[in-house]
Amino acid sequence: MINEAMKNYGNNRSVIRDLFEFGNQRKAVVGADNVFDFSLGNPNVAAPADVNATMIELLNTKNDIYLHGYTSAQGDAACREAIVKDLNSRFGTDFRKDNLYMTCGAAASLKIILTALYTPGDEVVVFTPFFPEYRVFIETSGAKCVACATDPDTLQIDFDNLRAALNENTKAVIVNSPNNPSGVVYTEENIIRLGKLLEEKSQEYGHAIYLITDEPYRELVYDGIEVPFVTKYYRDTVVCYSYSKSLALPGERIGYVLVPDEITDARDVYVAVCGAGRALGYVCAPSLMQHVLEKCTGQVSDINEYREKRDLIYNALTEMGFKCVHPDGAFYLFVKSPIENANAFSEAAKQFNLLLVPADSFGTPGYVRIAYCVATDMIRRSLPAFEKLAACYKEELGK
Ligand code: PLP
Repeated sequence: MINEAMKNYGNNRSVIRDLFEFGNQRKAVVGADNVFDFSLGNPNVAAPADVNATMIELLNTKNDIYLHGYTSAQGDAACREAIVKDLNSRFGTDFRKDNLYMTCGAAASLKIILTALYTPGDEVVVFTPFFPEYRVFIETSGAKCVACATDPDTLQIDFDNLRAALNENTKAVIVNSPNNPSGVVYTEENIIRLGKLLEEKSQEYGHAIYLITDEPYRELVYDGIEVPFVTKYYRDTVVCYSYSKSLALPGERIGYVLVPDEITDARDVYVAVCGAGRALGYVCAPSLMQHVLEKCTGQVSDINEYREKRDLIYNALTEMGFKCVHPDGAFYLFVKSPIENANAFSEAAKQFNLLLVPADSFGTPGYVRIAYCVATDMIRRSLPAFEKLAACYKEELGK
């Protein structure tokens, strides 16, 4: 017998991956330049020059066992020291290197913290639309995934819905801001309200409700928007971070879990994080990347390039009549499908070789996600195809 649950996850690949594979097949037929693939969140903007230069320098000067060897299970001390120093200088915090556990990216960070916190009967609340892998990570950790609908107009937290979603079994709430797939940044006012509500409910239920902030897009914000650093607003906050997007290194698999001293049972949580890392086989994040971070933490890819892409596609699509919440961060546009069935809309887009991800698995049916972290030239060349798609829905788009 084979694990049925795992077979299920293997058989039901993510809709994003399916679309990406479809795109590769189409490219073989019609040519790569004629397929407009907006499926994957794979950054097209280059890693900062310093990051590549540091890698080369390390390889040339430290190409020994130290560079490629195992680090401490929780990560190299100098790397963790550099990261907390950077965080403390940017956010006025007081973290120590022993608050950090280095991981293979945010996916591993989430899986580790969810595993570390889990006790039987737990529920974890996520806000729609959410990164579809949350459900997989939560359910395979044993807990129940509770989807909480956001305000349909702004995609900000709806506090009535959140109140209804919380109960004595709630172990944690996950926030992801800037958000994948909507690009929405939760306002400071809402983060303050969220903190107050969780505090009230933690007291009422007699146990901590942890706030897990999933922040791979923390630095990818535009027009001077500030992303509240959540540990300052709610005591029981654990941070899951990744350099996949900020340094454009998704294939290098590097990130961390940050367990502040202030959270309830901080020592136990950190030890359980170490235990979960061990149990999941995730100890010792990539060594070369940890050495790069020691020198390059705090750097960010060119935000202006992302903003240019965002403005180009947002302005063009809204001009055509498509509706979407203005994305203040990340590199996604969350577009309301002109027809109820977003899967049918995504299928219709395929005839123009436009690959748009239907958002049912993000918990918000009736939308498609456009990952605009692609070549600006491709966005430009895709606009006539979007025009043709819009022409099929003139009435629905009010044109
Ligand atoms: N969380 C969100 C919201 C994401 O969008 C992603 C990746 O796209 C991840 C987590 C996983 O990131 P990583 O590549 O660091 O594992």
